[in-house]
Amino acid sequence: MCGIIGISGYENIAPEIMNGLTTLQHRGQDSAGVVTFNGNFHMKKGNGLVSNVFKGYDIEKINGYCGLGHVRYATFGSTDEVDAQPIVLNYPFGLAMVHNGNVVNFNQLKKRLYEENHRLLETSNDVALILYTFAAELEKKDLKHLTVDDIFDTVEVVQKSVKGAYSAMTIIANRGFLAFSDPHGIRPLVMGRKFTDQGVVYAFTSESTTFDYLGYELIRDIEPGEMIFIDSNKRVHTRIGVKKKQAFCVFEYIYFAREDTIMHNRLVASERVRLGVPLAKTFEKYGLNPEIVIDVPSSAYFFASSMAEELNVPYRRGFAKNPHMGRSFITPTQEQREIMVKQKLNPIRDIVKGKKVAVVDDSVVRGTTSKRIVKLLRDAGATEVYFVSASPPIKSPCIYGIDMSVKKEILASHYDVEEIGKFIGADKMIYQSLEDLKDMYKDLPICHACFSGEYPTTVSKAMLDEIEKEKLSSNRS
Ligand code: AMP
Repeated sequence: MCGIIGISGYENIAPEIMNGLTTLQHRGQDSAGVVTFNGNFHMKKGNGLVSNVFKGYDIEKINGYCGLGHVRYATFGSTDEVDAQPIVLNYPFGLAMVHNGNVVNFNQLKKRLYEENHRLLETSNDVALILYTFAAELEKKDLKHLTVDDIFDTVEVVQKSVKGAYSAMTIIANRGFLAFSDPHGIRPLVMGRKFTDQGVVYAFTSESTTFDYLGYELIRDIEPGEMIFIDSNKRVHTRIGVKKKQAFCVFEYIYFAREDTIMHNRLVASERVRLGVPLAKTFEKYGLNPEIVIDVPSSAYFFASSMAEELNVPYRRGFAKNPHMGRSFITPTQEQREIMVKQKLNPIRDIVKGKKVAVVDDSVVRGTTSKRIVKLLRDAGATEVYFVSASPPIKSPCIYGIDMSVKKEILASHYDVEEIGKFIGADKMIYQSLEDLKDMYKDLPICHACFSGEYPTTVSKAMLDEIEKEKLSSNRS
């Protein structure tokens, strides 16, 4: 999973892109980078947080009139600096690209690129694969008289051959700025604009919150299969390319996106409030009467407070969180993850002592966090602990860019709800029901593959096995 930003239309945009990246930092902390263009490409990227990568760096050195930014949370590929984005290609055309998502048919395409186009991919980074595929097709056009239709036709070839999830942006040297989505529109990308003394400026970002900070007006989301090209005269061209049934990643609302972001005209915070309501109904169904509702900070706040409201039970913050700890989920070994959860969360004793506690988290993947949380609450004196997951049971790995580990480690792919409750030591385990979730998103077709195993892109069992094998052999299993 990653965060991307692109701006086109006025001088000296590098500081703005860098600042924009800090608003997307929650989407990736492994690497950060900015590229701009003003006749030449200028780039700065590296491993770590935006503040680390650009610390002491004179950002003015890489100024330009259009540019791209990226923060990376490595799902596939290494965390080596070589895989940091943006990436730039100088032949046959100056091109720079960033993307958010994950390519499913990486190996097949890599082989094809080599055999048919003699292009050798030396990284395992899928943005390189998208860029090379794009470049190999663009090369066939009359580059001297490149038209917008040529560019859109090229993207269509990419959309036909690259399977998976991708929201991508490309600078085409001296021609313009391109943004496009995969045919299902799995990953988010929004378009905005602002009016300056240099005229209109267009921007794209993974989350609208960036626009709030940078003073842009949110125009709209990029549609499934859509391509938007802004030419050197700031004219906006759009076309729907290869379009399939929309499958927007619902995990963006549940976990990934920031609560102040608007995606598909829905505020993430309001979605989380909505998702808390059916959870309360489940308590009523089981006849459970918690005396207090708490959340696992921070993403579960809106689910928990909304559920509490429905149940007419007080909501309190039951854990203090050490904000200076990294993310436990993406630490490589199980042992390290357990230690990290312990160092990160501390129960606020008097809040939970002697009470039946309902504790809400956004999701349970391996169960490391939830098991630890139940133990912490019991040690702090909770008499009963009901563990609530705002998402349905995660049963299948995400192959579209959300790092959810491998099937082997995903708890709900091997155990039923009762067994999971026992495993984590809860008195009751409560999940959002997939039916309720689907029902709530009747008017926005979502990707729910991690819950249902129904992947929107065609993907064979052999491909899934291959992805699992690669993931197991990587350093992130
Ligand atoms: P686990 O301990 O493996 O069950 O992971 C569940 C915890 O990880 C929950 O507290 C989630 O907030 C968090 N989480 C879920 N999915 C992700 C993800 N893709 N990246 C980082 N954290 C996640």
